[in-house]
Amino acid sequence: MFWSGFINLNNRLTRWRVSGMAPGQVLLLLPRCLHKDTCRQNVMLSLDECQRCGKCSLAALSQLRDDFGVVACVVGGGRQALAHTRRKEIKAVVAVACEKELVHGILAAFPKPVLAITNTTPEGPCRNTLADPQKVAEAIRELLSPAS
Ligand code: SF4
Repeated sequence: MFWSGFINLNNRLTRWRVSGMAPGQVLLLLPRCLHKDTCRQNVMLSLDECQRCGKCSLAALSQLRDDFGVVACVVGGGRQALAHTRRKEIKAVVAVACEKELVHGILAAFPKPVLAITNTTPEGPCRNTLADPQKVAEAIRELLSPAS
């Protein structure tokens, strides 16, 4: 499919051209649809609101934010995502979203590098989606690691 091919190519180029970032320069960008729809915590306000009950992916992703010390935020749409991406201190992004949003985000953020990770949609699009924390951890590690 065109979108997944574009994302794979983008990720290969990003891995090739970006390394050695400081944690504070890396933004972990998470879509609101990862948030369990029955959860009362306002993670849009701050990821610190997540009580890490484990009912959605945000528990593990909050832990990754703490473990790596990167910047992280939950966003409700492309405009909000782009505003965070354009912050001066941010030099590279790990973004989780559906393929279509990732492609739009990569193009809008250019030339800022984005490592893109597709979420899974067991309950259909935009609702209680899931992100693989291992893939997210690997992407963060790649941006932080010194050039080999
Ligand atoms: S892990 Fe639990 S507390 Fe955190 S956002 Fe998900 S459902 Fe809410």
